[in-house]
Amino acid sequence: MTTSAKREALMGATDIVAYYYGEKTVCPDCAKDLAAPYYLIDSPESFTTEQVLDEAAKTAGINRNDEDSYTSYEFPKILYAEDLVDGETCFVCDCTL
Ligand SMILES: [Zn+2]
Repeated sequence: MTTSAKREALMGATDIVAYYYGEKTVCPDCAKDLAAPYYLIDSPESFTTEQVLDEAAKTAGINRNDEDSYTSYEFPKILYAEDLVDGETCFVCDCTL
């Protein structure tokens, strides 16, 4: 097993660690806090960030499967661990991602 395959097995290949939002790196909690009021999502606390963003994308007419079809100003883009540099922090709450 290669190192990267091992890491994928450990972390899950689809683990979302952050979002790229308005050209800033934002943690999932903050992405939800930003998106839910903007897209008028009711009781966001009972949903995951992904569920909130899926709902918001419908409202906004955004195709989340085609990240090249929108900018990070129009809608948050998913960032995986390999997209981040070591020690990168959330632009909003400054937590380490
Ligand atoms: Zn944050």
